[in-house]
Amino acid sequence: MRCVRCGEKAVALAAGRTAYCRQHYLEWFEEKVSRTIKKLGMFGTRDRILVAVSGGKDSLVLWHVLNRLGYSADGVFVHLKIPEYSDKSFEVTKRFAEKEGLRLLVVESSSPVRILARKSRRKTCSACGIVKRHELNRLAHEQGYSVLATGHNLDDETAVLLANVMKWDSQALARQSPVLPGSGKLVKRVKPLCFLTEKHSAQYALLAGIDYVQEECPFSRNASTTFYKKMLNALEQRFPGTKKNVYKRFLEFRKNIPQEEMVLKDCRECGYPTTGDICSFCRIVRGSLQPRC
Ligand code: SF4
Ligand SMILES: [Zn+2]
Ligand SMILES: [Zn+2]
Repeated sequence: MRCVRCGEKAVALAAGRTAYCRQHYLEWFEEKVSRTIKKLGMFGTRDRILVAVSGGKDSLVLWHVLNRLGYSADGVFVHLKIPEYSDKSFEVTKRFAEKEGLRLLVVESSSPVRILARKSRRKTCSACGIVKRHELNRLAHEQGYSVLATGHNLDDETAVLLANVMKWDSQALARQSPVLPGSGKLVKRVKPLCFLTEKHSAQYALLAGIDYVQEECPFSRNASTTFYKKMLNALEQRFPGTKKNVYKRFLEFRKNIPQEEMVLKDCRECGYPTTGDICSFCRIVRGSLQPRC
């Protein structure tokens, strides 16, 4: 196959039979991220951006690309104390930040997420999600960042979409968006890779020489989204373009889903917004209340 821009030998596929040489693939990927940021009004060059980095390909690629595009983006790593995996991920992330000369902040979970999950009788991924969401937002707010960016890609977004549809959770569907506006102590959250797949990021990482953690988190095996991703990959193979089409149509459709207004108050323990008296993070980390389920 030949690069569609210059006719040289192609080394990476964008979609269908659209292939690029190294230089033009990197350019195509960066242009795509740049267009998404502008089209969805994610942020501008004056914003201070904090990128949640896990050591995986998507978040490291996102951090690298944002800085290449001229945005001011620091990184934050949440150490979840997952045996072996967290230390290894941290090492890779630290090495990446040093090599690229980028500022990396680190926040550490008070206890291993598996213990927090067991104590609160939640699934590990559920407890982990609560810790990550709370700590990332807290740090971004305390350190004066205007935007929190995550490396969620099209595979992640469509898997969550499918999970929400299977539960017919209309409020989760109404809230699922690549841009969640901030207010008060809630920092704006964005997903600039939402129209690119895991494969796109992996190709970019390879061609840009970005070293990332290849292993998956040991708890991802039991996560429902892993199963939904497999189903969507089978669909994509049979009907190419399925993920992109369904996600784009969903973003149009969600504008018409009536959203229940959420009344937020300050958590009695930490002061961050919550719907109850005490937020989920304080419930599981500080053990302020009995677990809900
Ligand atoms: S797979 Fe689950 S436990 Fe592992 S990092 Fe992701 S959310 Fe956390
Ligand atoms: Zn080319
Ligand atoms: Zn709280």
